[in-house]
Amino acid sequence: MGIEPTWPAWKAGTLPLSYTRARGELRRGRGLLRSLEMIAPALALSIRERVSCHAMNALLLTGGRVLDPANRLDSPADLLLVDGKIAAVGDRAAGQAPAGAERMDVQGLVVCPGLIDLHVHLREPGQTAKETIATGTAAAARGGFTSILCMPNTSPAIDTAGTVALIHERASRLGLVNVFVAGAITKNIAGEELAAIGSLKRAGVVAITDDGHCVQNNELMRRALEYARMFDLPVLDHCQDYSLVTDGVMHEGYWSTVLGLRGWPSAGEEMIVARNILLAELTGAHVHCQHLSAAGSVALLREAKKRGVPISGEACPHHFTLTDAAVAGGEKFWAGDGKDLFGGGPDAPARPAWPAYDANFKMNPPLRSARDREAVLEGLADGTIEILCSDHAPHCAYEKEVEFDYAPFGITGLETELALSLMQLVHTRRLSLADAIAKYTVGPARLLRLDKGTLGVGKDADVTILDPDREWTFDRDETAGKSLNSPFYGWPLKGRAVATIVGGKKAWINQAETVEA
Ligand SMILES: [Zn+2]
Repeated sequence: MGIEPTWPAWKAGTLPLSYTRARGELRRGRGLLRSLEMIAPALALSIRERVSCHAMNALLLTGGRVLDPANRLDSPADLLLVDGKIAAVGDRAAGQAPAGAERMDVQGLVVCPGLIDLHVHLREPGQTAKETIATGTAAAARGGFTSILCMPNTSPAIDTAGTVALIHERASRLGLVNVFVAGAITKNIAGEELAAIGSLKRAGVVAITDDGHCVQNNELMRRALEYARMFDLPVLDHCQDYSLVTDGVMHEGYWSTVLGLRGWPSAGEEMIVARNILLAELTGAHVHCQHLSAAGSVALLREAKKRGVPISGEACPHHFTLTDAAVAGGEKFWAGDGKDLFGGGPDAPARPAWPAYDANFKMNPPLRSARDREAVLEGLADGTIEILCSDHAPHCAYEKEVEFDYAPFGITGLETELALSLMQLVHTRRLSLADAIAKYTVGPARLLRLDKGTLGVGKDADVTILDPDREWTFDRDETAGKSLNSPFYGWPLKGRAVATIVGGKKAWINQAETVEA
């Protein structure tokens, strides 16, 4: 399966020499072949044919449950991947497999389109102590994701074509999965002046957002939407009204009062969701509301979608698993809002412990009340919220190991989001497995107009193989990402990616859990 970087190398953001050397040799080989073509064209042709035949990459996945929500397919079938594309699905796949195709027995596992996470902070350029393109995409592969969308709040911000090109170039060399880029709405994400949206589009961004920040000036947001519509780009918005939120650090409610922490009221999010609905109606541009956390936001979205407003929303597992009680510590959470999380009863797994004021429970928007958590789950169940994502936001340990007030917002999520989503949506029977997978495949692909998220013949061979019932524990030592700011270490999880295939090649495989034929 080729020469792959080692985990420590990924973590260090560098590649082992053997990898670079192999690439160099390949390049030198092509140069020699070109020279040979001039001297002995027939010989060069035969070498070229042999090389290309040898390089053909074919993989046959046999006996899995093929689940492709875009094509309404859910049945046991074989899947053939040839040269980076889906070549055949079903009975004819095995017959069409070229001689020498690699076979992989995936009986008992689910084979679905490669998962897409449209909300990831890769921190490169500028904050590579937290994460890099290499480590972030390694975490994505491990989580079952074949494509991610990186947010533009890097340093410098992704507000020019040059920065977009830099990320594309580095991702093509160092990325383990497909990296799509979101450009900024405003210059330097300062909310004052529009970025050059047309040139960002030409540079290849698939959306624009000021994520981490929110454009406060409604007139500026209106102009952004008009430009975005002209360039056929979706606008993703981090919904936060600064005048209402001010310096709030957790959800404003019972627990913020008990803990003596400044509150971030639900209305601080709902106000901007309402604003976005009005502006989407006014301009006809599509607005996508990021990481919805409040019951009022879900209600607004539901009502607007009924009226046909071009608006959508996403939800993150931490918002529909945890609540603000978690900031008061594990004991308080398990005694109250977390009571039913793993089912009661004597067989329930041991519940992880954490202290009050643990900054790994600090994110933006904040964990909200049990009522909000329920509303987000309902919004996912009834289709109001069509997209699941992580808001993977790595931070260094020293940044998080301070008073709750001073810690940065955000947690990592790429490696745990699939399990938490399956636990809260599928294992609780709120959603079918197909509907949950759709929110990680068709949903984001449709919003970003990506020709991905399906196993249709001829499409890119991005495939996730998963075991929805696999029980496992998220372990610090096995984290592929560079940062460790997750609240879910030590959690008993259920559901896991077993292999992640990007463009027909295995980007990650859990050796212990698959049998190779
Ligand atoms: Zn955000």
